[in-house]
Amino acid sequence: MKLLTVFIIKTLILRKQSFFLKNIISKDKFDKPKNLEEKAISQIGKKLYEAFIKNYTTKQWGISPKNLPSSIFNRLPIRFNYNEDYFNHCKYQGIPIDGYTNIFKNLLDNKKIKILKDCDYFKVKNKINVKYLTIYTGPIDKYFNFKFGKLDWRSVKFEKKIINQHDYQGTSVINYPELKYKFTRIHEPKHLHPERKIKKNLSLIIKEYSLIDLKNPYYPINNIRNKEILLKYKKQQKKEKNVIFGGRLADYAYYDMDMTISAALVKFNHIKNIN
Ligand SMILES: Cc1cc2nc3c(=O)[nH]c(=O)nc-3n(C[C@H](O)[C@H](O)[C@H](O)COP(=O)(O)OP(=O)(O)OC[C@H]3O[C@@H](n4cnc5c(N)ncnc54)[C@H](O)[C@@H]3O)c2cc1C
Repeated sequence: MKLLTVFIIKTLILRKQSFFLKNIISKDKFDKPKNLEEKAISQIGKKLYEAFIKNYTTKQWGISPKNLPSSIFNRLPIRFNYNEDYFNHCKYQGIPIDGYTNIFKNLLDNKKIKILKDCDYFKVKNKINVKYLTIYTGPIDKYFNFKFGKLDWRSVKFEKKIINQHDYQGTSVINYPELKYKFTRIHEPKHLHPERKIKKNLSLIIKEYSLIDLKNPYYPINNIRNKEILLKYKKQQKKEKNVIFGGRLADYAYYDMDMTISAALVKFNHIKNIN
């Protein structure tokens, strides 16, 4: 097995140049790429597409890249320089020192906030006396009882294992693009926090599988069918009084944490101005 950095950067290209470089400027140019495959090939050439994107995408989305919109490819950081960071133009990037759990614990640590755990909103909806407004963060189609049809979602399954090894893979995540592996990635979280003193000779590894599980919707599938259905729900949303829709499930959007927080702050300003 060969290990390569997931970002298609100059370092990789130089390392592999005898094989790849002549393929970087692809002959298969698509002026108006119709799908993910055409977009990827026109950006990085066929060889890199086949090595990094083709099988991984098929595993991740359960369909051929030929049947996925070209816009999905825009999420992938492609750079022709030596920058190995995930985000392109950020001065600072990182994760919260004490993790996201602590941030939310602190945010919710107020006597005025009452939390009902393991409680389906739709089961208690009619019992709640809403004073101001509702912020709904569940799937948009479910809110409207699927009246315009069900949206498609991809889901993920995580298989956790503690192993008797200090360091399993030397980095926080490795992607497995080959079809022979049923999982898409292996995570080893301890590498996200090199500053923490973590027990030697033990490590948590998590295998990630991509699948359909409508009870646990994770990723929107932005194909034409879903876009058309979503449009109808969005129109309906606007008519709903005293309800704010937010988050990846209600927006049917692929958000990273930076986008999630930024979208929440925009919604907060909107709510502030309502009252
Ligand atoms: C596998 C995976 C890996 C990711 N990796 C990264 C990464 O490496 N970097 C990064 O930046 N981002 C990553 N993300 C994205 C990021 O984690 C999410 O986009 C973000 O957590 C979304 O926040 P949210 O508040 O919009 O939605 P959520 O966190 O999903 O919040 C929605 C809330 O609504 C609740 N809810 C829904 N329906 C109901 C109901 N009927 N009744 C009661 N409650 C309900 C849910 O329980 C949940 O608490 C990843 C996401 C996934 C799924």
